[in-house]
Amino acid sequence: MPLRAGEVGMYNCGPTVYDRQHIGNLYSYVVADVVRRTFEYFGYRVKQVMNITDVGHIVDDADEGEDKMALGARRAGKDPLQIADEYTRLFMEDRRKLNVQDPGVVAKATDHIAEMIALIQRLIEKGNAYVAPDGVYFDVTTFPGYGTRLNAESPEQRVAGARVEVNPHKRHPSDFALWRAAKPGDLQQWDSPWGRGNPGWHIECSAMSMKYLGETFDIHTGGEDHLFPHHECEIAQSEAATGKPFVRYWLHVRFLRVDNERMAKSKGGFFTLDDISGWGYDPLAFRLLALGAGYRNGLDFTTKGMDAAQSRLERWRRTIRTAHAATKGRVAEPEGEHAITREFRDALLDDFNTPKALAAAEKALNLAATVDTDEQEHALWMLFDMDEVLALSLKESATTNDELSADERALFDRREAARKAGDYAKSDELRKELLERFGIQVKDTKDGTRWERVGRKGA
Ligand code: AMP
Ligand code: ZN
Repeated sequence: MPLRAGEVGMYNCGPTVYDRQHIGNLYSYVVADVVRRTFEYFGYRVKQVMNITDVGHIVDDADEGEDKMALGARRAGKDPLQIADEYTRLFMEDRRKLNVQDPGVVAKATDHIAEMIALIQRLIEKGNAYVAPDGVYFDVTTFPGYGTRLNAESPEQRVAGARVEVNPHKRHPSDFALWRAAKPGDLQQWDSPWGRGNPGWHIECSAMSMKYLGETFDIHTGGEDHLFPHHECEIAQSEAATGKPFVRYWLHVRFLRVDNERMAKSKGGFFTLDDISGWGYDPLAFRLLALGAGYRNGLDFTTKGMDAAQSRLERWRRTIRTAHAATKGRVAEPEGEHAITREFRDALLDDFNTPKALAAAEKALNLAATVDTDEQEHALWMLFDMDEVLALSLKESATTNDELSADERALFDRREAARKAGDYAKSDELRKELLERFGIQVKDTKDGTRWERVGRKGA
């Protein structure tokens, strides 16, 4: 039950916009989108807030090192705000390609410095924070249970693995920065009661989430890397300041991994959505892959998995298109709740179990492939209903002709030109490329060139 009748307040930890978001990041936003759409599907209004971290996220979790925005700016030879705008725009475009809805509020950290300062002041007044020569720190000894609320690794494990170069200004090694005094050359700095400086990353999320959603709200999401320190710090600061519970449900997305390694910006090797589109995949095939993984187990990303998701999506589209043609576009809601719809809904209510929800969708697709038009009409209704949450553009696929994408068309046209020019070696080579890259089989017939999607082979 949400805190306010009929309304769910949800905060998603947003990206640090110093670089492109990789598909691991995007996977976590697909999950958040499923959560939102599930609540909306069941009739709740969702107030969704996502932050954009455009200052304060330090390269190292231990408060030392460069701000990621400064790093991005230095790398590109640009201003941090320019970088932030550019990567925010690209990120929002990627989200839309994945049918991830825009949150009601997108809150930039640099627009909320005053709220952060007010919150830090409150913590100082309450004795939970102290002013040091290089900034303001949260005193973890004033918050019993600090670092243990989310069942992340135990504090002992953490201490053992931590780099131990303790800042001498901290009273306790685990104290964390709320505010950092500006260093010479800091590109982003603001006035504060403690001199010029910039905010810590954790305080941003506390200040912005509470501003828009109230001091206690329903759901807070992020990737599993946020369990500690980010979210433990958010809990400590927020609850110390308000004396109230901060968040009712935390949802952490397990990582997307490649070869058993977490995909991470700091590690260099990562893929963007543009990369996988460039390999010939539909962005929505990535969404389908993410739905097939769910959020609890994470996602082992392989091209084999992507191939399977792409063929699965194409198969769904074909089935829907054929059924839609057979019913002449008629769609009919089954009387009462159909067993398949119930299965789908139960899956979502079972901790957003999207793999199970997809299994229910497969049953509806089997029904859509029967020859009974009444059944097909029901199947289509159920699939379109499910698509409120799955958001795979299934309705669109019923009515749009299967067209070549711009990249596919360009290659197809080049092959046509080669064939017409009598360069058969070239034309054969391009025919092979169409098959290998896009899974498109080309046939020359006496009525001209025909093409068919047969899916990419192997990988
Ligand atoms: P960042 O821009 O690094 O703050 O990350 C944005 C969001 O993506 C955060 O919620 C992270 O926890 C999440 N995230 C980062 N890496 C991954 C990954 N490999 N798989 C899933 N989520 C991730
Ligand atoms: Zn956050």
